[in-house]
Amino acid sequence: MKEIILIKDGEIALKGLNRRNFEDALIKNIRWRIAPLGSFEIRSAQSTIFVRPLSDDIDLDEAADRISKVFGIACFSRACIAEKNMDSIQEAAAEYLQEDLEAASTFKVNAKRSDKGFALKSPDICRELGGYLLERFPHLSVDVHNPDITVTVEVRDFGAYVRGGVIPGAGGIPVGTGGKAAVLISGGIDSPVAAYMMAKRGISLAAIHFASPPYTSERAEEKVRQLLRQVAAYSGRMVMYTVPFTEIQEQIREHCPEELFTIIMRRMMMRISERIARANGCGALITGESLGQVASQTMQAIACTDAVCSMPVFRPLIGMDKDEIIVISRKIDTFEISIQPYEDCCTVFTPKHPRTKPVLKYVEQAESGMDVETLVQEAVDHTKFTKIDYDFLG
Ligand code: ATP
Ligand code: MG
Repeated sequence: MKEIILIKDGEIALKGLNRRNFEDALIKNIRWRIAPLGSFEIRSAQSTIFVRPLSDDIDLDEAADRISKVFGIACFSRACIAEKNMDSIQEAAAEYLQEDLEAASTFKVNAKRSDKGFALKSPDICRELGGYLLERFPHLSVDVHNPDITVTVEVRDFGAYVRGGVIPGAGGIPVGTGGKAAVLISGGIDSPVAAYMMAKRGISLAAIHFASPPYTSERAEEKVRQLLRQVAAYSGRMVMYTVPFTEIQEQIREHCPEELFTIIMRRMMMRISERIARANGCGALITGESLGQVASQTMQAIACTDAVCSMPVFRPLIGMDKDEIIVISRKIDTFEISIQPYEDCCTVFTPKHPRTKPVLKYVEQAESGMDVETLVQEAVDHTKFTKIDYDFLG
């Protein structure tokens, strides 16, 4: 039986004149994500995008799974294509939806006839197909208000599509339509979730990771790559910049008061990140901070961090509880990776009593013993990059 995937776009429907651009971006993202599975015809008509496999050996379960992670899709469904006559439609519905119909106790039929040349009108299609299914599945009864399953038939130009329920899409806006931003990524739970949330708002990603060998291991860096590969299932591919941070942390330890270690370290991260971001076409930074979660995430600490950065800093988790963040990290399959116990550079020189309400003037004074500009530029100059893509087969 020939199958097809029908996609309803989501929020992009609201974008007025930009609609075309958003839809083109969405189709490009869908195409790119499923292309490795084989050839597909993808076309859009009447706010539906049709994805038709062009050969029989294509794994449509896998295609549907990939499509479920593309932002900009409200919902989608799988349908089988029947010939445009009632015998064929009835046979297709009974066979294609057999399992669902057997599991249901009530159903209804919904019909749309966009090919006006088709002999039966929509209500007639409903009546005939409904009668046929009642005969074929005698345990079923019709419930037009709250059915367990709705069987939908659409008679279109080159065939009749028969489908059951719809599957929720990933929501959001097509990645890339909102520009590019750089996410500061650690091996923790929060930053991968922050990356996912901004990709959902249409932003394509670059990633910046600070590593402090030998205090942090190669394995810790591999964990970060693993997290990003998982995020890439949603955001699409990205470049990860790995910044050598050891020298800076040692300088901070040598020259600055212990209670300001963390805040100064975060200011160094922001300075370096902004420079890398600008050089690579990013218009904003993204962090996984959540207000009050740790000493460096108080309002006063965030004010001191932002003071060194003139780019917008997106903090999508700022108002969320850890529990709420974990729900998302489980959903996007990063949680199990995040909780693997590898050291992060932030945990290497943690002060015993970090200042929770740092005052900018004193933080700036504390930094004056270091050659900040040289340290920042050297870190940028020694940054390495790796390409990250979702490992669909892994
Ligand atoms: P996460 O779970 O994302 O590690 P966290 O709750 O542990 O967050 P912090 O360690 O204070 O919080 O880090 C706050 C934010 O700073 C992180 O969400 C991330 O955006 C950034 N960050 C922390 N460590 C690194 C690092 N090694 N490389 C890049 N960014 C980092
Ligand atoms: Mg962390």
